[in-house]
Amino acid sequence: EVVIKKNFIHQIVEEEINAGKNGGVVHTRFPPEPNGYLHIGHAKSICLNFGTAQKYNGITNLRFDDTNPSKEDTEYVDSIMEDVRWLGFDWGDRLFYASDYFEKLFEFAVKLIQEGKAYVDDQSAETISSQKGTPTRPGVESPSRSRTVEENLDLFLRMKAGEFNEGQCVLRAKIDMASPNMHMRDPIIYRIMKTPHHRTGDKWCIYPMYDFAHGQCDYWEGITHSVCTLEFEVHRPLYDWFIDQLKDTDYRPRQIEFARLNLTYTVMSKRKLLQLVKENYVNGWDDPRMPTISGLRRRGYTPASIRNFSDRIGVTKVDGIIDVALLEHSIREDLNKNAQRVMGVLNPLKVVITNYPEGQVEELEAVNNPENPDAGTRTVPFTREIYIEQDDFMENPPRKFFRLSPGAEVRLRYAYFITCTDVIKDENGKVVELHCTYDPQSRGGNSPDGRKVKATLHWVSVTENVKAEVRLYDRLFTDEEPDGHKDKEFLEFLNPDSLEVLTNCYVEPFVKQAKALDSFQFERLGYFNVDPDSTADNIVFNRTAQLRDTWSK
Ligand code: ATP
Ligand code: MG
Ligand code: MG
Repeated sequence: EVVIKKNFIHQIVEEEINAGKNGGVVHTRFPPEPNGYLHIGHAKSICLNFGTAQKYNGITNLRFDDTNPSKEDTEYVDSIMEDVRWLGFDWGDRLFYASDYFEKLFEFAVKLIQEGKAYVDDQSAETISSQKGTPTRPGVESPSRSRTVEENLDLFLRMKAGEFNEGQCVLRAKIDMASPNMHMRDPIIYRIMKTPHHRTGDKWCIYPMYDFAHGQCDYWEGITHSVCTLEFEVHRPLYDWFIDQLKDTDYRPRQIEFARLNLTYTVMSKRKLLQLVKENYVNGWDDPRMPTISGLRRRGYTPASIRNFSDRIGVTKVDGIIDVALLEHSIREDLNKNAQRVMGVLNPLKVVITNYPEGQVEELEAVNNPENPDAGTRTVPFTREIYIEQDDFMENPPRKFFRLSPGAEVRLRYAYFITCTDVIKDENGKVVELHCTYDPQSRGGNSPDGRKVKATLHWVSVTENVKAEVRLYDRLFTDEEPDGHKDKEFLEFLNPDSLEVLTNCYVEPFVKQAKALDSFQFERLGYFNVDPDSTADNIVFNRTAQLRDTWSK
């Protein structure tokens, strides 16, 4: 279990509990719009909302903020539920949709009209926006502002009945066109959209704006702490204004803002992620290069590694950008503790051990996880012909190259010492095979005479193995902040080498039993997991992370 550090939101919650506010109840919500797949930024929000409730014996709603039918879809609803569950959180029977409240929101809008606090404006969008003013210059009041209640009611009902076209009129809250807060200058609360909704079909052709829906949903669900990102700080007076019009008891949800997560070498906006998918720069939302939760899952990240990362980065009120190396550190830390070790060769070079009996298969004992003695051992088959990594051999090595070269002796992990006696080349002079001899006395990796060999190489039997495809990933973008440039589009920073596919790899037979998403450490190479594309004849591995940690703090 992750121990969640105390952050400023926990501080607020604790103070309120101690003061007896809301009877000590903590009730949060995670409110995604189903217009894309969740990303690592959402994971932070999920961990914060569910984590805070867990910490204070509270509960959390999952609420789909589905007020814009033109961008939303049930595919996204399903993927969001899968991702939240996979991260390890449970909303129980508290699944809600903003669209569940369309009727109540409509009635609330009618009430505002009746109280003279909302009006139908039939000016064009351009005119309305030109009347907004600036933070230092008051806006211009719309002529529609003086309509009577009866007129407004009639027009709003006709909007609902579909009598007008999209853009022909909107419903606005009547607040204050001179407010220093631009969001209080008669914000639009309903617009006409003749798009079928993924849940309500064509029942509605008017849809509430986000600001008009969110706080009211919070209120109706009894949310105590409505946690959102900093850009909504300026919306808070409006959030509170609507709740003031709505509430009939002392209870009110409290909006609290925190800094959104930004990560180096990627983009996080759903619009941009959608563009990467739609224009085939990646292979779908769950491409292992994507910062989506489904992409990270497919890449080999574990729920615990993401939860730990979320906790480690903390919760602040200041926007910043987190080094992606910290995310990589979290998965490495998890897999170092938990991943089964195996040997795999990505770029094979054949080695024939000329003094080893032909046809013999020797089962050698290997450690499953040196970090965890309980993981036990397995056997690895050793034969006369094996593969080693091409770059573990050099014909003319520089000084300090301790791996294999003509005449040199190395240790084969869990097996024997071997010495290179012959180098076989093709007609182009390329090394295609090595001949070596082995020392039968060195079984298990030590020689009785105590002679030292510096290098230990991993290897795989030529006859006893699983052939594999291995996908190596690099960062999707070459720039730390691909969408942080005024003069350049983020797509200009796409890394052309973010995916390298190796199709001639060999792994020890142990991985035959592996299922999709199982993780392994390939000794000396990194962490790899089984891609769901794998079939009985072609097992596919994704490189989750390299072994070396570049996170120095
Ligand atoms: P985008 O701008 O990528 O479309 P969004 O904020 O519109 O993101 P929502 O589906 O509305 O996406 O987000 C659901 C919840 O997740 C919101 O409470 C939002 O504040 C939070 N969230 C979204 N992005 C981040 C992020 N990068 N870091 C932390 N929380 C985030
Ligand atoms: Mg949003
Ligand atoms: Mg959005």
